[in-house]
Amino acid sequence: MEGLSRRRLLGRGGRLAAGAGLAIAPAAASSPGRKLKVVACGGHPGDPEYGCGGTLARYADRGDEVVLLYLNEGNPRPEQPPEPGRDRVAEAKRACAILGARPVFAGQVDGRAVIDEPHYRAFRALLAAEKPDVLFTHWPIDNHADHRAITMLAHDAWQSVSKGFALYYYEVSTGEDTVQFAPTHLVDITATEPRKRQACYAHASQSPERYYELQDLVARMRGIECGRRRAEGFIRHVQGPNAGLPGP
Ligand SMILES: [Zn+2]
Repeated sequence: MEGLSRRRLLGRGGRLAAGAGLAIAPAAASSPGRKLKVVACGGHPGDPEYGCGGTLARYADRGDEVVLLYLNEGNPRPEQPPEPGRDRVAEAKRACAILGARPVFAGQVDGRAVIDEPHYRAFRALLAAEKPDVLFTHWPIDNHADHRAITMLAHDAWQSVSKGFALYYYEVSTGEDTVQFAPTHLVDITATEPRKRQACYAHASQSPERYYELQDLVARMRGIECGRRRAEGFIRHVQGPNAGLPGP
């Protein structure tokens, strides 16, 4: 798929040159009748929802297929059943249903991320099966080791298909987790923010009243940067296709 995908994506939405400064996202990348496959990686259940949930809802609304790929199930002690009220897989499924997405779990353990050759191989196979056109993942110097781990795995899988799909980094709990993040692209999420909020609050065991407030502060700041009420910021890897975000 690599060559076809790259040519196809390069042919669209290329108004932002590589290395261009902060800009609102280019026009929609999907052509009539052709849907994109969008995969959003997260270290834990809830991460993609917080970092790019508004953007993912926009993809789903236009009919694209959206997958949330979590490194683990949010349970640091998988040998024991989840405590009452802390079933994070059930929370993730509810959040995905709200966004119009499908959850996938990569099978690692919360707080015990492993990056080695067998895990690289397994993750490559997982992404090869999903065949994304666009991939979102954590910023590689996030403070949480699980975030950095899934980004290393995702980056390796991207390289293994000759960087044939678009790759974007997102921010979560900026200042606490993501640091030194200067977006290259912004996506207006004003219309989808209520659903993003609902999806984040589906992770009821994870103090959404605290963390959503911080994330929404970031969304409002990114909105100010592009003249919208709320936006999500992304950094595009310049060696991937320069397309794939929903339009302004
Ligand atoms: Zn996390």
